[in-house]
Amino acid sequence: MSAAFNSRGPRTVKPISREQARDLVNKMRGERAALDDYREKSLKLHGLICAKCGREFEQSNRTQLTVHHRDGNHNNNPANGSNWENLCTHCHDDEHSRGVLGDYLSNNR
Ligand SMILES: [Zn+2]
Ligand SMILES: [Zn+2]
Repeated sequence: MSAAFNSRGPRTVKPISREQARDLVNKMRGERAALDDYREKSLKLHGLICAKCGREFEQSNRTQLTVHHRDGNHNNNPANGSNWENLCTHCHDDEHSRGVLGDYLSNNR
């Protein structure tokens, strides 16, 4: 592991290089960020309040407030927030238990 060894020998071929590992981590971070993106926007747009029962939330318990997609398509994220509804976990459950979008929740928990 000495510098002399590194400068002399041919580059060791590893299963994954440091650069590749970094790219991978950055990519995963990016995808995570994209996932959380609409949530942050919706909470900012509509406020920390459940659109259904009116329960208010604070920074400390905001994780209990979830973003519901009105049309059920969580890839549909218009910037004006028209497809988002902030719902507490209880109301969100209730909304989905009506049978229309049941699989959405199971994919997002
Ligand atoms: Zn609620
Ligand atoms: Zn929903």
